[in-house]
Amino acid sequence: MEIKIALAGNPNSGKTTLFNILTGSNQYVGNWPGVTVEKKEGKYRQDKDVTICDLPGIYSLSPYTLEEVVARDYLVNERPDAILNIVDGTNLERNLYLTTQLNELGIPVVIAINMMDVVEKNGDKINIEKLSEEIGCPIVEISALKGTGIDEAASAAIKAAKSGRKIPEYIFSGALEHTIAHIEEAAVHSMPEDEQRWYAIKIFERDKKVIGDLKLDKSVLDHIEQDIIKIEKSFDDDSESIIVNERYNYITGIVAKCYKRRHEGRLTVSDRIDSIVTNRILALPVFAFAMFLIYYISIGSVGNWTVEFMNDTLFGEWIIPAVTGLLTGWGVQDWLVSLVADGIVGGVGAVLGFVPQMLILFLLLSLLEDCGYMARVAFIMDRIFRKFGLSGKSFIPMLVATGCGVPGIMASRTIEQDRDRKMTVMTTGFIPCGAKMPIVGMIAGALFSGSALIAVSAYFFGVGAVIVTGIMLKKTKLFAGNPAPFVMELPAYHAPVAANIFRTTWERGWSFIKRAGTVILAASIVIWVLNSITFDSGIHFITEDSHGTSILEYIGNAVAWLFVPLGFGNWQSAVATVLGLMAKEQVVGTFGTLSSMASADLAAQGNAAMYSVIADEFFGGSGLAGFSFMIFNLLCAPCIAAMGAIRREMNNWRWTVGTIAYMCVFAYSVSLIIYQLGCWFTGAGNVPGTIFALAVLGVMLYMILRKNKYAGRTVRPGEVK
Ligand code: GDP
Repeated sequence: MEIKIALAGNPNSGKTTLFNILTGSNQYVGNWPGVTVEKKEGKYRQDKDVTICDLPGIYSLSPYTLEEVVARDYLVNERPDAILNIVDGTNLERNLYLTTQLNELGIPVVIAINMMDVVEKNGDKINIEKLSEEIGCPIVEISALKGTGIDEAASAAIKAAKSGRKIPEYIFSGALEHTIAHIEEAAVHSMPEDEQRWYAIKIFERDKKVIGDLKLDKSVLDHIEQDIIKIEKSFDDDSESIIVNERYNYITGIVAKCYKRRHEGRLTVSDRIDSIVTNRILALPVFAFAMFLIYYISIGSVGNWTVEFMNDTLFGEWIIPAVTGLLTGWGVQDWLVSLVADGIVGGVGAVLGFVPQMLILFLLLSLLEDCGYMARVAFIMDRIFRKFGLSGKSFIPMLVATGCGVPGIMASRTIEQDRDRKMTVMTTGFIPCGAKMPIVGMIAGALFSGSALIAVSAYFFGVGAVIVTGIMLKKTKLFAGNPAPFVMELPAYHAPVAANIFRTTWERGWSFIKRAGTVILAASIVIWVLNSITFDSGIHFITEDSHGTSILEYIGNAVAWLFVPLGFGNWQSAVATVLGLMAKEQVVGTFGTLSSMASADLAAQGNAAMYSVIADEFFGGSGLAGFSFMIFNLLCAPCIAAMGAIRREMNNWRWTVGTIAYMCVFAYSVSLIIYQLGCWFTGAGNVPGTIFALAVLGVMLYMILRKNKYAGRTVRPGEVK
């Protein structure tokens, strides 16, 4: 008799190792029909009538990833004679989550608990008989690596295959089981009894694919929907999450009875750290404090010192005097000296001045990432984001974006749900990337004596913009619906690996330096030229005895009026903002060149002199205007490279233009509110501006607070296109 056995298990559970031993060299490797996921099949080396099919490694049978779809299509449509479920014994809880789903299929399941060598080495004990009885299927202990228990597992699977189908057991709480029984009765009554439960649960989860395949009557579906809504109300959760929770409750109960750790009750170091950093109340303050510390060190204290060193000593005392000395020594013309000293060194130097600060920031961020803390933050954020209908998965692209927005936006690819992915692409650009940090450092240094609070506020304004956008968009039809459940493993903390940290820090820093030598260099020259020539009374260079309004000033003024309500309606800020779209560092580069050109020899006078020109001449000494400028530049359209990434990920021009327009309007609104309302505290409040700001604030508050018409409606992937 031909027997087909499917090998199923989580990624990294040892499936490949087991499959290779079971099949020896009788393997066939190909692709699953229609997709590029690897398909492996082979004959059991002890019995050629038995074919073993290796399914892709999966955590669940949901319809969200290709691997899951492939695995579940095979199980549901081909219905193998038995499933050999390989379970990592060192991680029972997570692995049994899949087991509960395999058990629902009505196909006999045999569990092979793998990694028993490790379990034993740890001194832990699994009560196999009890576990087998509780979970309702035979269990064999194996070690795929050591080759123990393999043939016992295969024999058990063959025996189970011969014993035939099996009706799945009830594992959920009473009310839920009642509803599922009801769905079985109403929708899948005509199916073989052993297959009904899986379909009923999928209908309960509103699984689009299953419901579509079943072609149920609308009246039946409406009737079932009433039942589901009733249960959702009483559990105060959506149907899919209810099932997830019930599965975990069931498993936790079983594992507590059957698994004895040697150090029962003794928490590992990781557990103890997690009890604080992922604590419901402490998690956010701890995260805020960690970010504060990072920005305090990188931008505030040590960072400030490095900027002063770079600008005062390196550029001010060494490079600029040397370069100008050299050029004058060669007898070159004054204008060329100015181009090099003010234009190039002023612009590129201002940007490079922030390199050490950025390296420190990147170093600290990669430290937190490498030791495992950032994974916890995604988990903490999931709790918060979920309230607003976003998934914690969206936080991972944002984490990447603290380095650079481009890979950040690309990282959103891992989000399966179309609307969640779009929303993540729309919001990732709000997070202050490395190139925006010099803007923050410059404003903090020029107007707030280097306060770390300004830098921290930049980060939290970014995260706030993401959350506010999430809340507003979730209440629109386009984005309505609950996020897919987010399951992630929290790896144990470990000491950071120096090589990893230095590599990521260097990669991020180096791309910044490269841009300074190319884009910023070119832009600085263009700025210098445009700011040195005037059309007034015939085109000519501006010199000490031939004044005039530079071309750049004309161009800047043509745009500057737009920013008057935001407090920085001067031509220099307008030029800097527009050029910032090329690369965000260029905002600082522009200020560097312009301030250097504003007074003779300024570049050589160092950091404090440059800051005072920026503060007094560009922002009229108003910290509020500077802050509003900073926030606008952080939140408005990202640089050209990031816009390209948005275009690629959205794959649609309307969405791309919509995203950029949204970011600009949002940035404008926030800066307007900050500046106009802030003016009342500095004694400069004006009535028309305040009315304008209050109107905008009113609209935003309405969009945030209005009732969500679409609450509770779960949208499946692919529904919003
Ligand atoms: P798959 O991703 O499920 O196919 O897992 P692999 O077969 O690639 O195994 C993942 C890792 O676990 C590999 O490094 C294996 O060597 C290791 N591994 C597999 N089985 C065992 C086992 O029984 N004991 C130990 N200690 N390691 C194992």
